[in-house]
Amino acid sequence: MVSSLYGIDQERKSIWVYLEVEADGLAGVSLELIAKGRQICNQLGWQLAGLLLGHKLGELAAEGFAYGLDEVWLGDDPLLEYFTIEAYSKAAFEALMAAKPSVFLLGATPNGRDLAGRLAVRLRTGLNADCTDLYMNPRDERLVCEVSGFGGGVLALIEMAQHRPQMATVRPGVFSPGELDRKNVGKIIPISLDLTEDVIKTRTVERSIGEGVDLTRVPVLVAGGRGVDGDFNMLGQLAQLLGGEIGATRPPVDEGHIERERQIGQTGVVSSPKVAICCGISGAFHFVVGIEKADIVIAINSDPEAPIFDYADYCIVGDVHQIVPALIEALSAEREVSIG
Ligand SMILES: Cc1cc2nc3c(=O)[nH]c(=O)nc-3n(C[C@H](O)[C@H](O)[C@H](O)COP(=O)(O)OP(=O)(O)OC[C@H]3O[C@@H](n4cnc5c(N)ncnc54)[C@H](O)[C@@H]3O)c2cc1C
Repeated sequence: MVSSLYGIDQERKSIWVYLEVEADGLAGVSLELIAKGRQICNQLGWQLAGLLLGHKLGELAAEGFAYGLDEVWLGDDPLLEYFTIEAYSKAAFEALMAAKPSVFLLGATPNGRDLAGRLAVRLRTGLNADCTDLYMNPRDERLVCEVSGFGGGVLALIEMAQHRPQMATVRPGVFSPGELDRKNVGKIIPISLDLTEDVIKTRTVERSIGEGVDLTRVPVLVAGGRGVDGDFNMLGQLAQLLGGEIGATRPPVDEGHIERERQIGQTGVVSSPKVAICCGISGAFHFVVGIEKADIVIAINSDPEAPIFDYADYCIVGDVHQIVPALIEALSAEREVSIG
């Protein structure tokens, strides 16, 4: 078996979180991983550190401390202003080799997945992708990564015996972020970088910000399945009246009725709304994992035996093309009364 570049005998008792940056601060998934890391570090008395790469991002370290980090390892360089896999993996690799943390967690975002895969190969360690839970085995202080396999038919618990760091990615929305406490402060550790332009093989020609929707934390999710027959306008009206957003199962996405970014489930988004309204959805495991964190699930299905009813708090047996318009009408009438 190939050994990792550093092993269990050289690891430092710390958990690292890759701090992904968005336009308005640290990415939600990074805050969620900080919260999970904090919980484990508090149990074990370990250090929790963030890896922050970019340019002129020092103030984001304070955000990381406010959410519970003890340290931020900061790589600040003009060549890190935008994500490129070559520069980011080089900087991250150097930092990891200098600090040798036991655990390194990343969000299963496009950039997080890219970085995680490349680093795992370079460090010759293992990577548990798309974990559905993480905890520490108290017996041997090894990270236990829960991963679903065989189309959701089994849940595998994976531990790494010798290889370090123990790497894992987790999708946005799987964990909850912690509380912000501006009184928390920590230590910034600058990473010494040796970056030159020739390292970067990709060139940014144009940057365009998409109008993407974040379904992980919408208050109300109105999700449509094959039973909706592509009528997402109808669901959109209901979502708008309830201050929510629409999502979908995979079939309507595959059939082109709705954008892929709105797919809920194992290969889509994990959403934690207050209310999820599932319209014409059978309740396959692959979908249900995306809504099981909802506070309340309402299901509308013409088949009284549909498995979705096993997960729903409120079950409406009937035709979605009759029930949803009736709901829209009732909500609109109520709104008119309250405005009038
Ligand atoms: C590896 C893998 C990953 C996957 N990942 C995902 C994922 O991330 N997300 C996802 O959603 N799926 C995923 N799938 C697919 C998943 O297994 C199911 O096939 C899918 O969720 C079913 O979608 P559905 O409920 O819309 O369709 P169906 O299973 O066809 O169900 C349609 C439902 O609509 C009801 N219905 C029909 N007409 C009406 C009507 N007029 N009024 C009310 N109810 C009506 C029917 O009774 C039925 O229950 C994945 C599959 C695999 C193998």
